[in-house]
Amino acid sequence: MSEKEKKVKIYILGEGFDVPASSTILTALEYAGFQLTTGVGCREGFCGACATLYREKGDYKLQAGLACQTVVSDGMYIAQIPFVPAQKAMYDINEIEADINTFKEYYPILFRCVGCNTCTKACPQDIEVMDYVQALIKGDIEKAADLSFDCIRCGLCALRCPAEIVQYNAAMLARRLYGKYIMPDSPDLNKRVEEMVEGKYESELDKAVQMDAEELKETYYKRDIKTE
Ligand code: SF4
Ligand code: SF4
Repeated sequence: MSEKEKKVKIYILGEGFDVPASSTILTALEYAGFQLTTGVGCREGFCGACATLYREKGDYKLQAGLACQTVVSDGMYIAQIPFVPAQKAMYDINEIEADINTFKEYYPILFRCVGCNTCTKACPQDIEVMDYVQALIKGDIEKAADLSFDCIRCGLCALRCPAEIVQYNAAMLARRLYGKYIMPDSPDLNKRVEEMVEGKYESELDKAVQMDAEELKETYYKRDIKTE
């Protein structure tokens, strides 16, 4: 039997299905007949919408991953989670300061971190989540912003945290503060923003909206790239 035809048995909410061994959890769910209207987004590992919990055969450990990036295994048990309810602070970025007191006020829960590192192990982006939480506790906003840069806001870190910390929302605040108050000013970026506000790129954008996928790809790969 070819690798393509090989099947494995997986369990979705307790019911068994035979699915192609090369499936991701996402494609296996669809192969099994589930029509996904929530818990699915870009399908490429960027949007964080398809956070999923699973156990592998013979392994007690509860694992977490993105359904679009995790390949099934024989005997896998799967439970999709619709969303992670998480506290999100409301603030006006113009009214707050880039220091530790802002985190004490808006995310005091950060200071309950027990240093268990469960969040880091749960992160499908391999982000050092505990390290950025510890950086925030020490008021090192730049480090937290840097460490959390690749966060896709899937919520798995918060889901597994025994202290109920919402790591990714606190990290978003760190990146916003860094961008507004700490990051060195960039004359090139300022110039580009001015050009955008003046509408310099409107006609090119309109053209791109009309392109089909192939044309878009071709245009993208032929673009001028500034190398220095
Ligand atoms: S830091 Fe948390 S929310 Fe961000 S990608 Fe990792 S697990 Fe997902
Ligand atoms: S899971 Fe929660 S308590 Fe544990 S290290 Fe991460 S933030 Fe701290």
